[in-house]
Amino acid sequence: MTMDMTFLGTGSAYPSPHRGASALVLRTDGECWLFDCGEGTQTQLMKSQLRAGRITKVFISHLHGDHLFGLPGLLCTVSLNTNSDPLQSLNCVDIYGPRGLRHFLRVTLGLTGSQLVFPYAVHELEPTADQSPEEGQLSQEATAETGPLHPQEQPGRTISLDVSSDSYLLFEDKKFVVKAFRLFHRIPSFGFCIQERDRPGRLKTEVLKELGLKPGSLYGRLKAGESVTLESGRVVLPEEVLEEATPGRKVCVLGDCSSVLGEGPLRLCSGADVLVHEATLANEHQEKAVDHGHSTPGMAAAVARACCAQRLVLYHFSQRYKPSSLHKEGDEDGVSELQRQAEEALQDTGVEVTLAEDFLILPIPLRRPR
Ligand SMILES: [Zn+2]
Ligand SMILES: [Zn+2]
Repeated sequence: MTMDMTFLGTGSAYPSPHRGASALVLRTDGECWLFDCGEGTQTQLMKSQLRAGRITKVFISHLHGDHLFGLPGLLCTVSLNTNSDPLQSLNCVDIYGPRGLRHFLRVTLGLTGSQLVFPYAVHELEPTADQSPEEGQLSQEATAETGPLHPQEQPGRTISLDVSSDSYLLFEDKKFVVKAFRLFHRIPSFGFCIQERDRPGRLKTEVLKELGLKPGSLYGRLKAGESVTLESGRVVLPEEVLEEATPGRKVCVLGDCSSVLGEGPLRLCSGADVLVHEATLANEHQEKAVDHGHSTPGMAAAVARACCAQRLVLYHFSQRYKPSSLHKEGDEDGVSELQRQAEEALQDTGVEVTLAEDFLILPIPLRRPR
């Protein structure tokens, strides 16, 4: 299965002509999952190779506008471009994000009279009080859901922190387990961990033949990891007839933060193939960055080191850092300096550092069988 990530916006605070506001898409087998949706994400999508209509899940790290203002508009445009065959029911778009997101969408879509041709559901994460300074915490009144659901809204789940694992289980299916974890920012912010399940190895057909097994349901059971008893009473273990399994890939995307919170984040991100971390300002501005709830390349590198990530991708740059392609000699604030700072901090490790730019497509190759 192919997997890649497209960065649609790598700037912080607001979209500019040279950097969109935060948004990236993880694509697996034609399905697109959108992480954050800053203002202008829909035009960035149109400029990319991706199709907005393929978005089946949306993950919002936190409620700051540079991560969220694009969502109502994007949903409306996808709706306009979707054929609404009354005989065909369209799939529900699942949206995950902090408490308050349900209210935000209900108000923005409701007040603007926006109707969608597809249903959507908002699954809210319940933040804990230590995820932001007191002034960043939204009151229950501010996030209270008054009035009826939006006509296309389906009831979503409210997901609380699982204290034993220090994480939030968003969903799991045959292919993936997706969890969220807590970050510290000016308002509650989350990171997401997408863990692909291990893929069983191929069946060793020669061995199966020798054992006298014919293709059929027993093959499926062995492949699913079950043991099988032959008529002779001989028990066949899956490891006898399967090649090595291919370990699943792990992709972690962190929202804005000046630190991770609790033990959950490092545990979940451990050994990630790709760790996407913000680096809003350069190391020399660390005090200012932390004051605003943000990180520097050095801080991002420390997280990548602590969780032994294979690749660190930096994004969410202050708009003062122009993309390398626009950088002129003598300009201050080159974005490549941010990469250099992260590389310097990681030089004794094998961690690769990538600087995200708008429209960068990062392939995430399969892992080698164990
Ligand atoms: Zn931001
Ligand atoms: Zn923010």
